[in-house]
Amino acid sequence: MIYSYSAISSFEACPLKFKYAYIDKIEPLRRNIEAFMGNRVHEALEKLYRDKLYEKVCSLEELLNFYNERWKKEMSEQIFVTKEEYRIENYRKMGERYLIDYYNTYKPFDEGRIIALEKKVFFPLNEKYWIVGIIDRIVEKDGKYEVHDYKTSLYFPTKKEIENDCQLQLYALALDYLYGIKEVELVWHFLAFNKEIRLKKRSYEGARMELIKKIEKIEKAIKSNEFPPRESSLCPYCEYQPICPVFRHKYKLEEMEEITEEEGFKLVNEYWNILTKIEELKILKEEIKEKLIEYAKRNNLQCVYGSEKVANIKISKNLYFNKKLKIKEILKKEGLYEKYTKLDTWKLADDFRNNLLPKHLMEKLREFIEEKENTRIYLKNLEREE
Ligand code: SF4
Repeated sequence: MIYSYSAISSFEACPLKFKYAYIDKIEPLRRNIEAFMGNRVHEALEKLYRDKLYEKVCSLEELLNFYNERWKKEMSEQIFVTKEEYRIENYRKMGERYLIDYYNTYKPFDEGRIIALEKKVFFPLNEKYWIVGIIDRIVEKDGKYEVHDYKTSLYFPTKKEIENDCQLQLYALALDYLYGIKEVELVWHFLAFNKEIRLKKRSYEGARMELIKKIEKIEKAIKSNEFPPRESSLCPYCEYQPICPVFRHKYKLEEMEEITEEEGFKLVNEYWNILTKIEELKILKEEIKEKLIEYAKRNNLQCVYGSEKVANIKISKNLYFNKKLKIKEILKKEGLYEKYTKLDTWKLADDFRNNLLPKHLMEKLREFIEEKENTRIYLKNLEREE
């Protein structure tokens, strides 16, 4: 199987999105402006360094013209803005600013000898899995190699996140496989902050193991055909939102002129009305219960009579243990712990599902486990709170 880093990250973000893109191979139904702007900035930086290969220092004006022309040419109806308060023009200007800052920081772009630009690499992770990817820029400086990557996101990662990021580490492994280059420094350009972060490890083998584990998870999902949607703060950027079961109904309603009679819309409203009433009734029930007990106590009664029911009010006292850990210890010492503990079948089923039990135990338990459909409805507010 051939995987790319973006396919692996896509599965981690949302298995269903991964399925749409990499299994069903559905063309993106829309494209977010952040990715669009990122592509245009990448193209401009590629041009900048390609010119350099031909001994030409591209002027800032030419660079921005190139960026804006590509922007105009590629812009389409499919591009959408995720944040309502901003417009496409805001993003175009952001990209321009990134390029201006980069240009002024690195001019005349002599940071080393350019070995490759937008280099497509294809190499094995192990005997089963291959990786394909594109390296933004490979540079050689005094016999040492650097892998450069441009980021246009507004998120500045922590040191730990950088150290754990597998993508560039993966490309270091690719350079070793393809050219036998052992010593590689990784360089991230966070263009929104005009900052570069460098990382150099003695070995990038950890990334290989990490990715194999991630791919094994994907293979397991493919085998069982289980790709649940994973709703998260990334959903607003998702190219497949219009067909995703989490959002498809919303799109349907948006297209309808009159939604009040739509079946699903009506059912959710009725369900919510009933839940609200049940909550109100619960509060009322507690208030009446308290009054009834108080009435019975005041009149020294055990039974209070109504038209159809008699309320039999029994007051008893229960014992409650605290400090569970201490009690556990005492019972264990007395050899009575098992008598008073219950088997946690929820946890057992969870560990079974996630293959966390020893193989022989899984085999022994298999005949006692059955899968049942479990349906629950959670109501949430229409506007997601980020
Ligand atoms: S909208 Fe969200 S849940 Fe649906 S496929 Fe995309 S990322 Fe997954």
